[in-house]
Amino acid sequence: MRAVVIDTAQTLPRVRVMPAPVAPPGGVVVRVAATGMCRSDWHGWAGHDDDIAFPHVPGHELAGVVAEVGEGVRRWSAGDRVTVPFVCGCGRCAWCRSGQAQVCPDQQQPGFTHAGSFAEFVALHAADTNLVAIPDQVGFAAAAGLGCRFATAYRALVGRARLAEGEWVTVIGAGGVGLSAVMIARALGARVIAVDRNDEALAAAAALGADRTLRAAGHETGLASQAAGIPQAVHELTGGGSHVSVDAVGSEQACADAILSLRRRGRHVQVGLLPPIGGHPRVPMSRVIGWELDVLGSHGMAAADYPAMLQLIERGVLAPDRLIERTVGLEEAAALLPRFDRAAVAGMTMIDPTR
Ligand SMILES: [Zn+2]
Ligand SMILES: [Zn+2]
Repeated sequence: MRAVVIDTAQTLPRVRVMPAPVAPPGGVVVRVAATGMCRSDWHGWAGHDDDIAFPHVPGHELAGVVAEVGEGVRRWSAGDRVTVPFVCGCGRCAWCRSGQAQVCPDQQQPGFTHAGSFAEFVALHAADTNLVAIPDQVGFAAAAGLGCRFATAYRALVGRARLAEGEWVTVIGAGGVGLSAVMIARALGARVIAVDRNDEALAAAAALGADRTLRAAGHETGLASQAAGIPQAVHELTGGGSHVSVDAVGSEQACADAILSLRRRGRHVQVGLLPPIGGHPRVPMSRVIGWELDVLGSHGMAAADYPAMLQLIERGVLAPDRLIERTVGLEEAAALLPRFDRAAVAGMTMIDPTR
């Protein structure tokens, strides 16, 4: 099969021909129809992820068709259209059995713990726990985005922050996960402030229904607090701060801005990765204590939680395919990955491995 291979961290990935994976016991091999590129892939390429053994095939947001079924799989057969959360639980522990595979201590992550989906085929573990059937009305590209960024945004707002109708939510970072959060928050009837450095990203957020947009450097014009930064601007727009904040970037600044944008008793969800490579980030804990803020982590979403989200997609309330900005082939993906942290494209980059 053809696959994007990274020989060692921070070297140019190459498209190579290599042996296709075989289905592990309890697992399957999926023929990849669409796979998304996200900032986590870039972190992996950069050497920030200890799970990765080089040479390595990245890719963890995928959809496709079951090509081979391993021993002991009960629920799936060849030809099924499937997607998968980027965290695949072991299927045996107490967390997995209670539907919380996203925190399984023995988890597998395609594209991190083993070869991923920037390839024609990918192996997936514990299929009966982790695979999700794609409804007929949902295309492969739309489904691929669900496994990481869209489902993560959904779980952050619904499962973790319990965002309610009429509340204000501030989303910092309008990339794939941030734009997903904007779309989902609007569908839940919340009011949304999107924050980004990039005007194109803010325009995309506005098109998806963000009520207000703030540029991270330079801010919305006409606000008295323009010089005082994002938190001040959010407090002004919302009359006292946001009910919920999301850091969809993963930087010390974004995390602090998100927390300081909250009103008293607000809820912050950390979604953007903050790898401890530069030391642990400073978080404004005095505000967390004094204002009784909740600081929540969110780590993808278990397959068990997909049905409610898929129903909203089938009904057209959520339309993840609107987040796809471009589709590229494997060669282009290989060239793109090393500069993906700076690639200023609003929305998701999808890879078609047959190209
Ligand atoms: Zn991802
Ligand atoms: Zn488990």
